[in-house]
Amino acid sequence: MNHADLIIENARVLTMDDDRPRADAVATSGGCILAVGDRSDVNQFATPATRRIDAGGASVLPGFIDSHIHLFAGGAQLNSLSLAGVTGFDAIASAVRARAAADPGAAMLMVEQAAYFMFGDDQPMTRHLLDRVLPDRPLALFASDHHTMWANTAALAAAGILHGRDVPPGNEIVMGADGMATGELREFEAFAPVNALTPTGGRDMLGLSGHEPKTEPNAAQREVDKQTLRAALAYCASLGVTSFHNMDGNFYQFGLLEEIERDGGMIVRGYVPFRMLPGMSLSQLGKGVEMRRRWNSDQLKGGFVKMFMDGVIESTTAHMVEDYCGLPGQSGMSYFEQDEFDAICVEADRLGLQIAVHAIGDKAVNRTLNGYEAARRANGRRDSRHRIEHIEMLLPSDLRRFAGLGVLASMQPTHAPGGYYPAEPILSLVGRERMKSAYAWQTIRDTGARLVFASDWPVAPLDPLLGVATAMTCKPTFDGAPDQRQGLVNSIAGFTRDGAFTEFAEDRKGVLKPGMLADIVVLDRDIAQVPGDEIAGARVATTVCGGQITYQRGAA
Ligand SMILES: [Zn+2]
Repeated sequence: MNHADLIIENARVLTMDDDRPRADAVATSGGCILAVGDRSDVNQFATPATRRIDAGGASVLPGFIDSHIHLFAGGAQLNSLSLAGVTGFDAIASAVRARAAADPGAAMLMVEQAAYFMFGDDQPMTRHLLDRVLPDRPLALFASDHHTMWANTAALAAAGILHGRDVPPGNEIVMGADGMATGELREFEAFAPVNALTPTGGRDMLGLSGHEPKTEPNAAQREVDKQTLRAALAYCASLGVTSFHNMDGNFYQFGLLEEIERDGGMIVRGYVPFRMLPGMSLSQLGKGVEMRRRWNSDQLKGGFVKMFMDGVIESTTAHMVEDYCGLPGQSGMSYFEQDEFDAICVEADRLGLQIAVHAIGDKAVNRTLNGYEAARRANGRRDSRHRIEHIEMLLPSDLRRFAGLGVLASMQPTHAPGGYYPAEPILSLVGRERMKSAYAWQTIRDTGARLVFASDWPVAPLDPLLGVATAMTCKPTFDGAPDQRQGLVNSIAGFTRDGAFTEFAEDRKGVLKPGMLADIVVLDRDIAQVPGDEIAGARVATTVCGGQITYQRGAA
């Protein structure tokens, strides 16, 4: 007879298990779920030592699985000034100057969640403009999408790029007519020298740019980095997240997480990739295999390859078939040629590695699907679960290929224009015709393809309940565009059981039923009883990962 370590009762349990969708209580034992059912089903396992949580009639769900985050960069930014929603010179300047005064020792004042036109439609973000905001100290503003940074003159000088520098294709230190950098830095390699001047020395972004630290970080630096990751994990737990799929990775980050796990600090389960870059030899994929072999526990595992096919729409670096509206000759570019990409897909697939590719423009999505098709042609049909991240623009002719090739559509509800973010500038850049097949959550689902939802934190807020609410309420950006809104169950599934399937762990987590890992989130209200937009206001009361309480509201 098993004894319950923990019983959560008086709950409206949404199990996400189709065989038993609703229940009143959950019991856990030894890190796994022991029973799900009504009071008596669960109470038969109680002992005097059983810990009890009264959910007070609120929703209880499987722990959230965020299938696309950047843990290290997110942690590094928890302490940065955020300019989300701040617009206009005076408001920006006063916020930045107040932070500068409060942080006199910072070598680089880093600001997050900057918007492309935050100073006004007719005000390009140049170093000269930012010099007026803060003239005497290095200042850099990170776009919310993390694909563009703007730096003032002091920051460019400190980073050694005021007069430009060669960067790989797809990256750009934008140069002015005067032969000096304008302050706009496009993509990772362009802003890496600025990022290197932050407290983590830019190490939080190395896994994104596909590098290891150039010199082995010393003990003090490792400690800074582990603190950053621990803070990120605690933040995940506070929002009910019990698993994450990282979308950047290197051996250094794995090593830090392994040490955290050894100290019992891995309070959220991580799935971390090998980051493959254009120009790398195919033999580099062996590193992905090595990561899979070395890290394979429920807490920390490898086994997939992450690539970027293109950039983002806002900076016109997403690769489109047709030019951006009003910008003749500009359609973005892919980082991989088709031949090179196909060869990588065939080899990664042959090695049994899952593949995840960032693709936002319709041309980039097309090229990625072609690569997955090439892998299937070469290696035959297998349960590969390759995925495409974002899929913001989609050629109607590519719609059915997701289901046909078994490709998972990994989409981020908060990214869609007209929901959490405004419709502009996306709508004007792509135009109405392309917008009709864009952010096509339901249209893709209707073809029989599988979707999974995620936040892309810190690009957008981490809170999965915001993602659920946005998926349920995001309206078309104009009359005549398809309605892509999702129901409650599909929205929650996108952050629970679909995430488990995406990481080949549907037999371990993502639904609440006996034998599964005891990853559970208790909310502060019954979200099945409130309208979608109110779900964003719900809060996590308790998070349980592996039967352990990893967050409790109000506790220190
Ligand atoms: Zn991302």
